[in-house]
Amino acid sequence: MRKGAELEKLAINGGYPVRNEKIFYGCQCIDEEDTKAVVETLLSPYITCGPKVEETERKLEEYTGAKHAVVVSNGTAALHCACIAAGVGPGDEVITTPLTFAASANCALYCGAKPVFADIDPETYNIDPKSIEEHITEKTKAVVAVDFTGQAVKIKEIREICDKHNLIFIEDGAHSIGTKYDGKYVGSLADITCFSFHPVKTITAGEGGAVTTNRDDLYQKIVEAHTHGIVHEEELMEEAPHEGPWYYEQISLGYNYRMTDFQAALLLSQMKKLEKFKARRHEIVEKYNKAFAEVPEIIVQKEIPESDTCRHLYIIRLDLDRLTCTRREFFDAMSAENVQPQIHYVPVYWFPYYKHLGYERGLCPNAEEVYKGIMSIPLYPKMTDEDVDDVIAAVKKVVEAYRK
Ligand SMILES: *Cc1c(COP(=O)(O)O)cnc(C)c1O
Repeated sequence: MRKGAELEKLAINGGYPVRNEKIFYGCQCIDEEDTKAVVETLLSPYITCGPKVEETERKLEEYTGAKHAVVVSNGTAALHCACIAAGVGPGDEVITTPLTFAASANCALYCGAKPVFADIDPETYNIDPKSIEEHITEKTKAVVAVDFTGQAVKIKEIREICDKHNLIFIEDGAHSIGTKYDGKYVGSLADITCFSFHPVKTITAGEGGAVTTNRDDLYQKIVEAHTHGIVHEEELMEEAPHEGPWYYEQISLGYNYRMTDFQAALLLSQMKKLEKFKARRHEIVEKYNKAFAEVPEIIVQKEIPESDTCRHLYIIRLDLDRLTCTRREFFDAMSAENVQPQIHYVPVYWFPYYKHLGYERGLCPNAEEVYKGIMSIPLYPKMTDEDVDDVIAAVKKVVEAYRK
């Protein structure tokens, strides 16, 4: 029997860890049904540009309620296509949040435009519509609003700002497939929504992404951008009558951002489980919320009532004034307990690439302050109740060890 004192001693100081096997902040959930779908497609006549891609796009339309969906090779490609469709180009500005994966800002740079960082709400961690409005200039073309951790941004407010200033509203929904805002699924609400199906996200295609929109004009541009700017439909061609049945036209400069059919087959199979994943994620979130409500050193992310969130990340924020440790020491202590946290995210403009472009620290004080105390703890549907209990135990153990 391990004695109480031995169990309390942090693993980083030589005590027993809360668990023996390391658990990470995210993990894909793939079963035999998924692998069967992939193998079947691999043995079919089309492994790319085939029926599974079509089927997945129709399924995404049906699920999100968007008029159009285009699947692409990854979430970053989705954001690039969105910016192209929005007409973002040199001299333009695109407003986004710094508390995100770099791709949310890089997509503006790909188009020769300038990312402009608006600050976040310090309680929800999502972009603050007031700050968006403060950063609008005559050069602003689009807003890339990120549903951070899966919680929908304030869509109504952002919609109003975009309408008032004639901006394209791009929603970075890399975290938020399955989330509803005011009863409607994310994907059907902004001008363009981008999803990612990287393995850490809620459902996966290995690598993959999707773009959804209700607008026919934007849809056409997204389709072109993701497949070389090439069209096969005669009504879209410039040269008529054309050369013959082999003829297609390149009418704009696009890329090869296509998803393969075996990835689409995986995604389609994963989509069948999305509601189940959402329910399990929700269960775990509720357990964490309840456990941490009793821990004054831990600040829990605030939810807006409009968002029925399919949570991608669970973030604890340390109240460092109540602890004797730094965030780094807390992080290392958690790792030693075999509960491996991660930090989402380093403010994008702190990276050297952005620094060299002239961005300075201090631009978004709320985001920088929140960043100092946050940490993502494990959240994925495959977690057992024991896993969840271990994570809670590890957080509580480390808090108690460093309590002031
Ligand atoms: C993951 C992610 C992306 C990029 O998606 P990829 O599929 O990895 O290219 C974009 N934005 C956010 C907020 C993300 O988390």
